[in-house]
Amino acid sequence: FVRLKQAGRSKDELLEMGESFNEMIALLESNYSRQEQFVANASHELKTPITVIESYASLLKRRLHQQPELLEESLEAIHSEAVRMKAMTEQLLLLAKPNRQWQIKLTEFDAVGVVERTAANFEKAYGRQVELQLAQQGAVMIVSDEDKLCQLLIILLDNARKYSEAAVTVAVSQQADGCCIAVKDSGIGIAEAELERVFEPFYRVDKARSRDESVLAGGIGLGLSLAKEIAEATGVRLELQSKEGVGTTAAIHIPAFSAKSNKSELQ
Ligand code: ADP
Repeated sequence: FVRLKQAGRSKDELLEMGESFNEMIALLESNYSRQEQFVANASHELKTPITVIESYASLLKRRLHQQPELLEESLEAIHSEAVRMKAMTEQLLLLAKPNRQWQIKLTEFDAVGVVERTAANFEKAYGRQVELQLAQQGAVMIVSDEDKLCQLLIILLDNARKYSEAAVTVAVSQQADGCCIAVKDSGIGIAEAELERVFEPFYRVDKARSRDESVLAGGIGLGLSLAKEIAEATGVRLELQSKEGVGTTAAIHIPAFSAKSNKSELQ
């Protein structure tokens, strides 16, 4: 401070620098506690499936000889918890790395083709029908990261499946300023006050209502925060509209590839 004063800095300048310094410290502190919170939540969520796996394994160890019928039920539970844990770990690993460090691979491809393939895989995996609505015939060419767009679609389709009983719809439309892919469901919806919060890691509107016992159905509140990171990293806009008891629409707006963009990034 004294040295800066000697260097001829005015009082206002010094005060301004002091304020920036305090802001910087506050930011560092809040990042630190967010990180701590993240690690605490992640450990807590991972502990549940580990405990289930451990209990079933020790039950088998103790009682398999006397009760061989325990085998099927225990293996089923161990398998489903392991699958859940794998999906959780994959999401956690992605979120642990700042999205600006992700490798983004831009290519030109047909958005309709990606939606059709992802929806078909989804139908096969969950036996839930996905209805496609195409605003126009033919391909809708976009420039984006195909794998990341797929991941984003899977998160949104998965939520539509988990929080609604009825069919899920995906609409693709070409617009003047790009392309829009909207995943719609007519499920339980999200109250307005919760709409912003659902993007926070580990935030779940009602922990009891959506925690289903079946494989992967009980999310841990990472899907939408990952979706937000993917959207940010790939330069698309993610918009969530919802009405409690009516349904939810999650729209991905992919901007048109401008001639001014850096074509050398295209691979
Ligand atoms: P989760 O793994 O719990 O689904 P997400 O981050 O994907 O985590 O979503 C956060 C919360 O937002 C969910 O727990 C749920 O309460 C709410 N939510 C997300 N998508 C929908 C939807 N399509 N309909 C109703 N609620 C939703």
